[in-house]
Amino acid sequence: MCTESKGDIDRARTEEQRAAYAGTIGQGVCPFCGKTEDLPKEIREQILIEGVYWRAWRNPFPYPGHAAHIILAPIQHWTQPGEGPPEAAQEWMEINVRLIQELELPGGGIVMRFGGHEHKGGSITHLHSHIQVPNRKTFSIAVFYADNQLKEFLRTT
Ligand SMILES: [Zn+2]
Repeated sequence: MCTESKGDIDRARTEEQRAAYAGTIGQGVCPFCGKTEDLPKEIREQILIEGVYWRAWRNPFPYPGHAAHIILAPIQHWTQPGEGPPEAAQEWMEINVRLIQELELPGGGIVMRFGGHEHKGGSITHLHSHIQVPNRKTFSIAVFYADNQLKEFLRTT
């Protein structure tokens, strides 16, 4: 069991997300850690790929304006890029490429935030990256820091 900070439930963007994380972050448990069967149902049911070091799933709480929003997180509780062996960095890239090809994602962005919550925003401390494909109907954003105004936008869009 990891003893790292798990995240901040008060940074949840929606009530749905807050409710889902109440049983994990709210209890001091990381929702991204551990065996597949131990993950929250919202994540477990959306898993696309599991590698040696990384696991990818469709974000059950996608940002507005997206045709696809996929999360890629290490299976172990890493909090900064570069943790883990060099092979993990290679596998991260390979899984990104596989997802783009197998899901025929036409284009978008890959975002991995780092550092403390005061710099990166986000509700989960566990390192993760986002593959974001805009729906091209409204604007799409990559979130680094959500002040109250942006949180309101994310809730209502
Ligand atoms: Zn974790």
